[in-house]
Order: sequence, then C-alpha cells, then structure tokens
Amino acid sequence: LVLGSTPVHAQEADPPYRDSMRAVDDRVDDLMSRMSLDDKIGQMVQIERGAADAGEVAEHGLGAVLSTGGSAPDPNTPEAWADMYDGYQRAAVETPLGIPILYGLDAVHGHNNVRGATIFPHNIGLGAAGDPDLVRRIGEATAVEMAATGVDWTFAPCVCVARDDRWGRTYESFGETPELPSELTSAVTGLQGEKLGDRPTSVLATAKHYLGDGATEGGLDRGDAVIDEEELRAIHLPPFREAVERGVGSVMISYSSWNGTKAHADRYLITEVLKEELGFSGIVVSDYDGVGRISGDRNFTPEDLRAGVNAGIDMVMISKNHAGFISDLRAEVDEGRVSQGRIDDAVRRILTKKFELGLFEQPFADRDLLAQVGGDDHRELAREAVRASQVLLENDGVLPLAPEGGKIMVAGKNADDIGHQSGGWTVTWQGGSGDTTEGTSILDGIREVAPGTEIVHEREGEGIDDSYRAAIAVVGETPYAEYEGDRPDGLVLDDEDRATLSRLADSGVPVVVVMVSGRPLEVADMVGDWNGLVAAWLPGSEGAGVADVLFGRSAPTGRLPVTWMRTSDQQPINEGDGQEGLYPYGAGLSYDAARPAAPEAPQLP
Ligand code: BGC
Repeated sequence: LVLGSTPVHAQEADPPYRDSMRAVDDRVDDLMSRMSLDDKIGQMVQIERGAADAGEVAEHGLGAVLSTGGSAPDPNTPEAWADMYDGYQRAAVETPLGIPILYGLDAVHGHNNVRGATIFPHNIGLGAAGDPDLVRRIGEATAVEMAATGVDWTFAPCVCVARDDRWGRTYESFGETPELPSELTSAVTGLQGEKLGDRPTSVLATAKHYLGDGATEGGLDRGDAVIDEEELRAIHLPPFREAVERGVGSVMISYSSWNGTKAHADRYLITEVLKEELGFSGIVVSDYDGVGRISGDRNFTPEDLRAGVNAGIDMVMISKNHAGFISDLRAEVDEGRVSQGRIDDAVRRILTKKFELGLFEQPFADRDLLAQVGGDDHRELAREAVRASQVLLENDGVLPLAPEGGKIMVAGKNADDIGHQSGGWTVTWQGGSGDTTEGTSILDGIREVAPGTEIVHEREGEGIDDSYRAAIAVVGETPYAEYEGDRPDGLVLDDEDRATLSRLADSGVPVVVVMVSGRPLEVADMVGDWNGLVAAWLPGSEGAGVADVLFGRSAPTGRLPVTWMRTSDQQPINEGDGQEGLYPYGAGLSYDAARPAAPEAPQLP
C-alpha cells in the first residue's frame, strides 16, 4: 500500500485509530497494522532538534524530537518555542499516517530551558522541604508552562539517590535516602495528573536515571556503581517502584554501569526488573546518545543498537544520524538479531502514550496558556518553595533579622546573581552568571522585605565596619551540570568566598552566611566565626523566599536531605553509615524555641 504524501484521512474517511471514542489498545492495534517496519523503527527515534528540521522528521516518521539543555529557538521566548513545536507537529500530522511527535526536554526545575519561565528550586532544596504536596503543585505549574509552548515530555523527575556529594548531579537528587525521592515522586502526579492525559496540560514525566546513577564510585558522573544487588534494590530501586505505581509514563536509562555492565545494555535491570517485576508499561528511553556509548563514543554501531533494544530500550535518544539508525536497526531485524516482537513492543509503548496524551486530538501548543509562563501565581508558588527549602544550621540568636532600622551589608558572589542562584539546567545546560533569566535576586528580595533598613551591597565585603548591625554573606557554588560538576578533589569554598568571609568576620559585625550550593561544602573550619548559617540550596528565580526566612516573615522548616560532612574525605557519607558529619541528615533549626533541635534519627515528612 503506497500512500504517498496524501493524508490518510483523505484515503479512508474514518480509520479506527483516529476515533477517540475507541479504547487506546484498539487504536494502537489499528495504527500498527498500517505501519511498515521502517515506520515502526522511525517511531523509536528521538532526535536532537538541531539535527533534523520539521521536514526531515516528517519524511522519516521519527517518533520524537528533543532539545538538550540550551537547544532553544532564537529568540528564546515562550512564543518562539510554541512556533517551533507547532512547526514540527504540523509536519508530522500531515504525513500519511499523521502520527504526532513527542517533544521532550529537561524541565527539571520549572520549564527551565525557556527564558522567562518560573524557575523552581532544584530537587535538593525540595528534598529539604520534604513536602510531597508542594512538589506535586510545582509539577502541575511546570506542566502548564510546558503546555503553553507545546512541549509534551519532560525528562523529570530525577529520582536518583545521591550517595556521594562529590557527584556533579547531587543537586538533581531529592536526597541521600530512598525515602525522600520515593515520597517526592508526587512530582509525577503533578506533571501527568492522576492519570496521563486526564487534563489538557498533562505532560509525560520521566523517572531517571535507571539505575544506580547516584551510587557510582568516587561520585563520578557516568561511572560504575560497584554495589551488590541487595544494596541496589534497598537504596536505589524504591523511588522507581513508587514512580511506576504512580503511572510514570517513561523511565530514562542511566549512563552509568552496575558492576561493570552499562545500564543501557543491562537486560536484567531493564526487562526483567523494571518491565516484568515492577510492571512498567511505559516508554523506556535511552539517555542522550547513551546507546552509542555502550561500546565507546557517542556514535552508535549496529551492535550497540542490538544490545540496547534487546535489553529493553524502546526509544533511543540520538544527537544525529536518524537515517542510519533506521537502516541499521532494520538490518538487525531482517537478519533476526532483533525480533519483530521486540520492535512491536517498543512501538506499542510509544504510541500508547501518544494516544493517552490526547495528541491525535490536540497536537498543538495551547497558546491561551502563554501568559502563565513565568506568571505571578507560579512565581508565588516558587517563592513558597524557596521558603520551605531553607535549612537553618546555626543561629546564635542573630536570626531572624529585624526588618527595620540600621544598616546591613549584603556581600558574596551569589547575593545578586539570578544565574548563580538558579544553578545548572537554567536556560543553558551548564547555567550561567548574571541575568540569564527573569527573576528576583536574593539581594532584591532583601530590599523588598526590609524596606526600613539601609541595605548596602558590596560583593566582597569591602568597607565593613561597626556602623553595620549585621552582614549577610551569600556565598557557595557557581553553576554546573552533570560531570562538569564532579569534584573528586573536594567540596570547598573558593578563594573569593573565603576572602569575603574572613573580611566580614574580622570586622566583628555579626555575620549570617547563606550558602547557595547544590550540596554541602566544607565549612567546619570557619563556622565558629559565623552567627548564623542557612543552607539555601539552588533556589531558582525567586530569591525573595530566602529573604522571607532571614527576616522572619516565615520560620525555617527545612531539614537536611543529605548528611553535611565535616571534611570532603568523609565522602561518601550517608545517614546510618556510622560516620559523624558536621550536621546529620534531618538536621534543621527553627526560630521557635519550642521546636526540638536537630534530630539524631532522620525525620521524614
Ligand atoms: C542527561 C539527561 C538528560 C539528557 C537530555 C543527558 O546528558 O544525562 O539527564 O535528560 O541529557 O538532555
């Protein structure tokens, strides 16, 4: 049957798969009966948008497109995203079979690739807040901002359990115990709805990275998790089990290995454990060029495709060469090394999600929602999340600061920098410095909540003297993502921060330190000089939430989602491993004297 370029609806008035009243399974059966092997293999490709324009995607019948971190339209506005998305979708639905694409990206703390979107705290801060309902609401808001631009698939939540804070993805983790990431799979419900497609703004969520990404030796990103199966199951599997129970639509495979076997080629973990034992019926997606990396560099070989698809990967995310993918995988099937049944299983999973999302009925961006991208309600929710994620670690009574009177110095490289406070995966992959997106810096927030105080901003604390009643030093890390954030040599404050902090400490003025970082840093040798210490994590675009806590508009309630080490050579250090850090897992003070001090045992919400 050659349909050429004539749309299928012109061929057959009412093919059953287009009938939204029919059961999804029946629609999938009908559609698959009309597909050639190449059509099916095309559905298994997710191509980086820079490697294929709308015409290419339609011509090859590719199943999905993605924007990796920073792969944005120019200009990077919500409207331009909607135009780009609709362009791909229009070309796809005008093909003979008219199968819509999925468009995926990493909306990991809000719709963070889009300039002007609301940027929520990174997961580590949400782990400190420990509130499943808050995380669900953030997922819902993120889904609305995504739906406005059309994007229907986010590679979130990361439910990794970060065991070694030297790992550059620690901030993408909700915490070091299985409990926190498991409970906070409420993100899945927020993004997808109770059931995928149960509301117009439902988007496909992804639990990642399966399995053991946070367990690698030395905290090396993409490294090897050398642990036994009992530990893998006890610590790293539970969040995936929870996510599957919540109906998560996709699971992404980890670049890492388990005892020397690349997860992308691990049939036991993917097919036997995830699909058969946990009963996962959604899409298993590879990481970016993760199948190519099975044997070496990013370029896939036929052997890589065979290994990955036979292990159970359904959709393969690639940076280039979709045509080669289709011909290579077709040859594997023709020669019997990959079964037709495996291809059908993969395609069935992909099409099922497309039908469930309602893409055949409503494939385009919902532009009525554009005004909500970065809108006031979402920013207010983000500010609430920032407040809830603050962890008070030291306080000699200096906090909360009185909002009225006198003079306060605000210092530190992270005091007035939206890029820094947002961290990696913000507009670009690695994040950046300065006004990378719209928002309120911590300094702006302090000015807002303490209007009756003279606020002097000196980045390095120059000119501090006893005319000031306090100094607030906002220090910590600058943005990074993935392996670029690995710190095998230790987690320390940089020279600029140390110089700023010692200048302030030498002045005799009370000092409150606000740590903007994706993980604990070494502070044991300096903390004695400080009157207060707040872990602010990576709060995102709404810095005012930090100021709310410093000035007592809201009392701190956050608790450490990771053990805070004394020195980096204690890494890996985790709750219950017998090591004594500076602050235990679960630590967190408040302003209410009646509230018990930091608990010894973890206190989970
Ligand atoms: C990361 C994933 C991400 C993917 C797509 C990879 O490098 O490991 O977490 O979802 O890129 O951007």
